[in-house]
Amino acid sequence: ESRYSINIPHLLCRSRGCMEYSELHRAVRQRYSLSDQDLLAFLGDTSRFIVTGDSSQSGVAGPQPGAASRVIAKTSVRLCQMHECDGRACQNLHLCKYLVCGQCGRGKKCKYSHKVHSSHNSNILTEEGLQDLDQLELFQLLLQNDNWLLEGSVYCIVTCIVSVLFVFFLMVVDLLSLQLGQ
Ligand SMILES: [Zn+2]
Ligand SMILES: [Zn+2]
Repeated sequence: ESRYSINIPHLLCRSRGCMEYSELHRAVRQRYSLSDQDLLAFLGDTSRFIVTGDSSQSGVAGPQPGAASRVIAKTSVRLCQMHECDGRACQNLHLCKYLVCGQCGRGKKCKYSHKVHSSHNSNILTEEGLQDLDQLELFQLLLQNDNWLLEGSVYCIVTCIVSVLFVFFLMVVDLLSLQLGQ
Protein backbone atom coordinates (compact mmCIF):
# COMPACT_ATOMS: atom_id res chain seq x y z
CA GLU A 1 0.00 0.00 0.00
CA SER A 2 1.33 3.41 -0.88
CA ARG A 3 2.30 6.06 1.59
CA TYR A 4 -0.92 7.96 1.07
CA SER A 5 -3.46 5.16 0.88
CA ILE A 6 -2.88 4.59 4.59
CA ASN A 7 -4.37 7.68 6.01
CA ILE A 8 -2.96 8.00 9.51
CA PRO A 9 -3.27 11.83 9.57
CA HIS A 10 -6.99 11.28 8.98
CA LEU A 11 -7.23 8.91 11.96
CA LEU A 12 -5.26 11.30 14.16
CA CYS A 13 -7.17 14.40 13.17
CA ARG A 14 -10.46 12.72 13.89
CA SER A 15 -9.16 12.31 17.44
CA ARG A 16 -8.22 15.98 17.80
CA GLY A 17 -4.80 15.42 16.22
CA CYS A 18 -3.35 13.11 18.82
CA MET A 19 -3.72 9.46 19.84
CA GLU A 20 -2.11 7.02 22.21
CA TYR A 21 0.07 4.63 20.30
CA SER A 22 -1.93 1.58 21.41
CA GLU A 23 -5.17 3.25 20.31
CA LEU A 24 -3.72 4.19 16.92
CA HIS A 25 -2.28 0.71 16.52
CA ARG A 26 -5.74 -0.77 17.06
CA ALA A 27 -7.42 1.66 14.67
CA VAL A 28 -4.84 1.01 11.95
CA ARG A 29 -5.12 -2.76 12.40
CA GLN A 30 -8.90 -2.56 11.96
CA ARG A 31 -8.52 -0.85 8.59
CA TYR A 32 -5.29 -1.94 6.97
CA SER A 33 -3.19 -5.04 6.70
CA LEU A 34 -0.04 -3.46 8.03
CA SER A 35 2.65 -5.12 10.09
CA ASP A 36 3.83 -3.46 13.30
CA GLN A 37 7.16 -2.89 11.65
CA ASP A 38 5.57 -1.08 8.69
CA LEU A 39 3.46 1.05 11.02
CA LEU A 40 6.59 2.07 12.92
CA ALA A 41 8.39 2.83 9.67
CA PHE A 42 5.43 5.00 8.71
CA LEU A 43 5.52 6.89 11.99
CA GLY A 44 9.26 7.37 11.54
CA ASP A 45 8.46 10.14 9.05
CA THR A 46 9.31 13.04 11.33
CA SER A 47 7.87 15.58 8.90
CA ARG A 48 4.41 14.07 9.47
CA PHE A 49 4.39 12.64 12.98
CA ILE A 50 5.72 13.29 16.44
CA VAL A 51 5.98 10.23 18.66
CA THR A 52 6.38 11.14 22.33
CA GLY A 53 7.99 8.88 24.88
CA ASP A 54 9.92 7.43 21.98
CA SER A 55 12.75 5.21 23.20
CA SER A 56 14.82 4.73 20.06
CA GLN A 57 17.91 3.50 21.87
CA SER A 58 17.45 -0.10 20.79
CA GLY A 59 19.33 0.47 17.54
CA VAL A 60 16.23 -0.23 15.45
CA ALA A 61 15.43 2.45 12.89
CA GLY A 62 12.32 4.51 13.51
CA PRO A 63 10.33 5.12 16.69
CA GLN A 64 10.00 2.47 19.39
CA PRO A 65 6.88 3.62 21.18
CA GLY A 66 6.54 2.69 24.83
CA ALA A 67 3.35 2.19 26.81
CA ALA A 68 2.83 5.90 27.38
CA SER A 69 3.66 6.99 23.84
CA ARG A 70 1.45 9.38 21.98
CA VAL A 71 1.39 10.08 18.27
CA ILE A 72 0.76 13.64 17.17
CA ALA A 73 -0.05 14.71 13.63
CA LYS A 74 2.42 17.16 12.16
CA THR A 75 2.52 19.12 8.95
CA SER A 76 4.74 21.68 7.31
CA VAL A 77 1.71 23.26 5.64
CA ARG A 78 1.09 26.83 6.80
CA LEU A 79 -1.31 29.61 5.96
CA CYS A 80 -0.06 32.33 3.64
CA GLN A 81 0.62 35.50 5.65
CA MET A 82 0.84 37.85 2.70
CA HIS A 83 -1.84 40.48 2.30
CA GLU A 84 -1.60 40.40 -1.46
CA CYS A 85 -0.23 37.16 -2.88
CA ASP A 86 -0.36 36.30 -6.56
CA GLY A 87 0.02 32.66 -5.54
CA ARG A 88 2.27 31.55 -8.36
CA ALA A 89 5.27 30.45 -6.31
CA CYS A 90 3.43 30.37 -3.00
CA GLN A 91 3.55 27.07 -1.14
CA ASN A 92 1.17 28.21 1.60
CA LEU A 93 -2.58 27.82 1.87
CA HIS A 94 -4.75 30.76 0.90
CA LEU A 95 -7.30 30.68 3.66
CA CYS A 96 -8.85 33.12 6.09
CA LYS A 97 -7.07 32.87 9.44
CA TYR A 98 -10.27 33.58 11.37
CA LEU A 99 -12.13 30.81 9.59
CA VAL A 100 -9.41 28.34 10.61
CA CYS A 101 -9.47 29.64 14.20
CA GLY A 102 -13.19 28.98 14.53
CA GLN A 103 -15.21 31.64 12.81
CA CYS A 104 -14.91 34.69 10.65
CA GLY A 105 -17.40 37.43 11.35
CA ARG A 106 -16.83 39.11 8.02
CA GLY A 107 -18.73 36.54 5.97
CA LYS A 108 -18.95 37.36 2.28
CA LYS A 109 -17.18 40.68 2.79
CA CYS A 110 -14.01 38.93 3.97
CA LYS A 111 -11.09 39.58 1.65
CA TYR A 112 -9.42 36.28 2.55
CA SER A 113 -10.43 33.02 0.96
CA HIS A 114 -13.00 30.79 2.63
CA LYS A 115 -12.59 28.15 -0.09
CA VAL A 116 -10.64 25.31 1.50
CA HIS A 117 -10.44 23.28 -1.70
CA SER A 118 -9.58 25.98 -4.20
CA SER A 119 -7.21 24.75 -6.91
CA HIS A 120 -4.26 26.53 -5.24
CA ASN A 121 -4.98 24.87 -1.89
CA SER A 122 -5.83 21.48 -3.39
CA ASN A 123 -2.43 21.26 -5.08
CA ILE A 124 -0.64 21.88 -1.79
CA LEU A 125 -2.86 19.50 0.18
CA THR A 126 -2.41 16.73 -2.38
CA GLU A 127 1.34 17.17 -2.33
CA GLU A 128 1.31 16.74 1.45
CA GLY A 129 -1.09 13.77 1.39
CA LEU A 130 -3.74 15.77 3.25
CA GLN A 131 -6.37 15.94 0.52
CA ASP A 132 -8.72 13.50 2.27
CA LEU A 133 -9.00 15.43 5.51
CA ASP A 134 -12.33 17.15 5.92
CA GLN A 135 -12.44 20.84 6.78
CA LEU A 136 -12.51 20.45 10.57
CA GLU A 137 -9.75 17.87 10.54
CA LEU A 138 -7.56 20.10 8.41
CA PHE A 139 -8.18 23.12 10.64
CA GLN A 140 -7.30 21.02 13.68
CA LEU A 141 -4.02 20.02 12.08
CA LEU A 142 -3.19 23.59 11.08
CA LEU A 143 -4.04 24.97 14.52
CA GLN A 144 -1.75 22.58 16.31
CA ASN A 145 1.14 23.22 13.93
CA ASP A 146 1.09 26.84 12.88
CA ASN A 147 2.52 29.16 15.55
CA TRP A 148 1.19 32.15 13.69
CA LEU A 149 -2.36 30.88 14.24
CA LEU A 150 -1.57 30.20 17.87
CA GLU A 151 -0.34 33.76 18.34
CA GLY A 152 -3.61 34.88 16.77
CA SER A 153 -5.71 32.98 19.28
CA VAL A 154 -3.57 34.14 22.23
CA TYR A 155 -4.11 37.68 20.98
CA CYS A 156 -7.88 37.03 20.84
CA ILE A 157 -7.88 35.76 24.43
CA VAL A 158 -5.82 38.70 25.70
CA THR A 159 -8.05 41.29 24.01
CA CYS A 160 -11.08 39.49 25.38
CA ILE A 161 -9.73 39.61 28.96
CA VAL A 162 -8.74 43.26 28.60
CA SER A 163 -12.20 44.24 27.37
CA VAL A 164 -13.90 42.33 30.22
CA LEU A 165 -11.65 44.12 32.73
CA PHE A 166 -12.43 47.45 31.11
CA VAL A 167 -16.20 46.87 31.35
CA PHE A 168 -15.74 45.85 34.98
CA PHE A 169 -13.73 49.03 35.61
CA LEU A 170 -16.51 51.15 34.08
CA MET A 171 -19.10 49.43 36.30
CA VAL A 172 -17.02 50.12 39.41
CA VAL A 173 -16.59 53.77 38.43
CA ASP A 174 -20.34 53.95 37.81
CA LEU A 175 -21.17 52.45 41.21
CA LEU A 176 -18.73 54.75 42.99
CA SER A 177 -20.12 57.85 41.36
CA LEU A 178 -23.65 56.74 42.27
CA GLN A 179 -22.66 56.31 45.89
CA LEU A 180 -20.87 59.65 45.95
CA GLY A 181 -23.92 61.30 44.46
CA GLN A 182 -26.19 60.07 47.28
ZN1 LIG B 1 0.36 33.06 -0.82
ZN1 LIG C 1 -12.79 35.44 6.65
